[in-house]
Amino acid sequence: MIVDLRSDTVTRPSQEMRAAMMSAEVGDDVYSDDPTVNSLEDRVAKLFGKEAAIFTPSGSLANQLAIRTLVKPGEELICESNSHIVRAELGAGATFSGITTRTWSANRGMLAADEALELARPDSGPYLVSTTAIAVENTHNFGGGTVQPIDEIKRLASTANSMGVKLHLDGARIWNAHVASKVSLLEYGKYFETVSVCLSKGLGAPIGSLMISTKERVTTARVWRKRYGAGMRQVGILAAAGHFALDRNIERLEDDHARAKKLAIACNSIVASTVNPAEIETNIVGLDLTGSSWNAGEFAVKAKESGVWVGALGPKYVRLVTHLDVDDAGIEKASAVLKDLLERAFMSK
Ligand SMILES: *Cc1c(COP(=O)(O)O)cnc(C)c1O
Repeated sequence: MIVDLRSDTVTRPSQEMRAAMMSAEVGDDVYSDDPTVNSLEDRVAKLFGKEAAIFTPSGSLANQLAIRTLVKPGEELICESNSHIVRAELGAGATFSGITTRTWSANRGMLAADEALELARPDSGPYLVSTTAIAVENTHNFGGGTVQPIDEIKRLASTANSMGVKLHLDGARIWNAHVASKVSLLEYGKYFETVSVCLSKGLGAPIGSLMISTKERVTTARVWRKRYGAGMRQVGILAAAGHFALDRNIERLEDDHARAKKLAIACNSIVASTVNPAEIETNIVGLDLTGSSWNAGEFAVKAKESGVWVGALGPKYVRLVTHLDVDDAGIEKASAVLKDLLERAFMSK
């Protein structure tokens, strides 16, 4: 048995999901003729209380389309320093939209509204860069699946709104935040001008994300999606997987969260400094190997030899992600392997 904890993107579509894809009604989506895509876009827009949504092949593209409509060339987007938009989209905002970014740093990526607002300088005149938007990532991926406190989101939104600064939500894992916090998707949607969501992470679809906003912004985004070469044709077969994922795979994220907590408890029981189980709110466990004689890469190689695949995301940072394709037996196996490795990594000094 291989237990793949590198990411929640590694899930493979179930037989039932494949059946839903096979029977999807389709049309040419570049002509807006694909009924399954249209209904998915409608459905997801309504989930967040918005007018419209646009289906994209990746979450990065959904983020980039949102940024494109919010921030003009030479203007500024403010992000947390470990956010996906600034660390994992390969400079797309600068490359495609000509925008600049500044960042604030937050422990575990946890939002404190004041830290973001301190940087914001809208309408800076002819000598300094003007801030036009702030991005919030929920849950925060590299922060370890951190759920953003709703009170901080509210505070950020109310001040940003009074400054005329727009908010973008990178909600690749907003489903996990929703299940963990019990805050509704509608409530999350209220505070943001644009939202991106992924169907291909914990929800288990093979591909697919959406950018959600006003009709006007989504219409603009359609032009840019086509310009970027991501106009898609009979893509209802993929949208059908998205519908299936929304029908079946949101509430079950609780299981992933409980399993992540188990992994954290197991690792913490061997070396307490690697992870604090109380901080594990969703499906991501970051392991801090500081103080061990192995780096994250070596740890990942040894784990793989024992059939457990983990992500080495920093010199001493290992990431474990639970998902649809890891069951309780997988967690037991992974716990045993990780405990053994941690013992060796920290004792062999
Ligand atoms: C995965 C992810 C994305 C989008 O990733 P794609 O691989 O482009 O689909 C965006 N933001 C966050 C926080 C993510 O984890």
